[in-house]
Order: sequence, then structure tokens, then C-alpha cells
Amino acid sequence: MDAAVFHGEGDIEVEEVPDPEIRDPTDAVVRVTHTAICGSDLWFYRGQRDYPTPGRVGHEPMGIVEEVGEDVTHVRPGDRVFSPFSISCGECEFCRKGLHTSCENGAGWGGENTGAQGEKIRAPHADGTLVRVPERYADDESVLESLLPLTDVMCTGHHAAVSAGVEAGDTVVVVGDGAVGLCGVLAAKRLGAERIVAMGHHEDRLEIAEEFGATEVVSARGEEAVEEVTELTYGGANHVLECVGAESSMDTAFRVARPGGTVGYVGVPAGVDEAAFLDTAFGKNVGLEGGVAPVRAYVDDLMADVLQGTLDPSPVFTKTVGLDGVPEGYRAMDQRDAVKVMVKV
Ligand SMILES: [Zn+2]
Ligand SMILES: [Zn+2]
Repeated sequence: MDAAVFHGEGDIEVEEVPDPEIRDPTDAVVRVTHTAICGSDLWFYRGQRDYPTPGRVGHEPMGIVEEVGEDVTHVRPGDRVFSPFSISCGECEFCRKGLHTSCENGAGWGGENTGAQGEKIRAPHADGTLVRVPERYADDESVLESLLPLTDVMCTGHHAAVSAGVEAGDTVVVVGDGAVGLCGVLAAKRLGAERIVAMGHHEDRLEIAEEFGATEVVSARGEEAVEEVTELTYGGANHVLECVGAESSMDTAFRVARPGGTVGYVGVPAGVDEAAFLDTAFGKNVGLEGGVAPVRAYVDDLMADVLQGTLDPSPVFTKTVGLDGVPEGYRAMDQRDAVKVMVKV
């Protein structure tokens, strides 16, 4: 079979790799039909984070179950499934607590668990990890494309909103106009926020933010942006979603937070010197909640909304490629020509 393989900075190739096989009785093998390229893939692609070379890549798989191990009971061959970006058993202390990203038996995609940007994956702990799409929607292409962001970015944006304590009638600021930030806008809207201020630097992305429910967009940078948001929110918002993970965006998030408010953060921290914003957080008694999104805990609720037609995060996919187009997809995301790339295998 073919799969995307990382060979070093800026170098992704699609090449022949061994087919995955059932290894443990709790495994399933899934033929991937849809997957995606993620903003977090850019960290290793740009050489900003270590990654094995050669290394299988991709962590947002959707497909058809081909084969299951003898202990698998929740999915059968032929089922349409997708998976969160983390593998989880569904049974340990942390899975039962809804913190599947801390699963005692958990892991990420890639490496020997095989990467999702390929023709097939071996899914460990298939019962806990794989989410079954109801049969009625299993071949509905438009529903599948709306469900695909639930593998990561939609649930991550939702985690930011939940962590920031967003409720009906609230005023919310979303820092970041990447796919997660845009999904954060959608999530805040879904939770009933009345005013949503989206902060970002790209006109085309802020247009999607407006489509998703942002009532105001702020494209200024630095000090000017903070002032603008503070003015718009009459002194800061009680709920701020930090969806980037950079030091400057963390700093912005704390500065636009209202005293006593909460920052929900989901961007993977990259080069963040916490001392810089702790001062602001301390002075205003602003809380910090969140972390890596336990996607599996949210996916059933969000899937129900997608199936009812009230939630559609698919506009985050601004480019679609085939498996052979994965290297081009990375380039497009790296150069910000695409918000997020869908891969139809
Ligand atoms: Zn991702
Ligand atoms: Zn677990």
C-alpha cells in the first residue's frame, strides 16, 4: 500500500510501505477513505519539532473497517468509522473520566500504529478509539466531510470554548484564525455566545470566522489589536479562547481577558515563556484552563449535531487533494495557501 512518509524538513513523500496487520486481539485494520493535514503537522514539517525519519504521518483518519481482532465488539468489517487524533482504550481511569488523551493504554498515530495519511491503518484499542458513523450516513459524502474535522480541530475548538466556560449570552474572544480558532468560533456560537470577537491576520480566514458566527473581527496586530478588542468588549471578555499556542497569542489572550475571566487554551505551546503572561494573569486574576483536547469525550455530542444538520465545520477545508497530493498539501499549508487540507485517499 501507499502512504505519506516524512523524510526531514520540508520533505514528505508518498511511497510504498507494508500493509498493516492485526497484531493484538483489540486491533482493527481500517481502509482510509478521508484524512487531513493538520496545522500541528507543520511543526515537524518545518523542523521545529523532532519527528522520526523516515516517519509515517497523519492523525485524522476516517475510513471503512476491513478486519477486526477477536476481542473487538463495537465495530465490524464494513463499518464507516473515524478516529480522534489520540488512541484510547475507553476503559481506564482517565478514559472513564473523559480525559482520553491521558489514557493509560493510549498513544498517538504515526510510528508503528501507522499514520493516517496512507491507504490503511492499524487501529489499536479499536473499541475505545474508533467512532462508528451511523449506517444511514455511512456513504453520505457531504456528511462525511462535515464529520472529518471532528477527528481533531472541531473538538479542539470546542474544548477551548468549554474550558473558557462559554455559556449562552456570553461575550467571547477567539485568538487565532487557523482551523482550530475558526472551529472555536463555531463552538462558541453553538454554546450560545452572543458576541464573538475573532482575532487573526488573514482576511480570507476571518471571512470564514464571520460565516461561523463571529460578530466582530479584528485583524490588527500587537498593541493595536489588544486595544481594539478591549474597547469592543468594554474592558475585556470573560471568556477567551487561545487557539495558537505561541507566546504572543498567549500574551494577547491574557491581555484581552476581563479581570476574573478565563482563558481556555488548546494551542500546543511552542516556545512559550510563561513568565511573560503570568504577570498579566496574576494581576487580573485570570484563570487558565484547557490543554490537549480529549476529542473522544466530545465526539458523540458533536456528531449528533452534524447529523442533525446544525453543525458544519467542513468550510475549514479550503483545499482537497488525493493521496499523491499530500506533499503539495503540506506545501500549501506551510505557505498559508490553505487553512486545512482534506485528503481523499
Ligand atoms: Zn490534527
Ligand atoms: Zn484508557
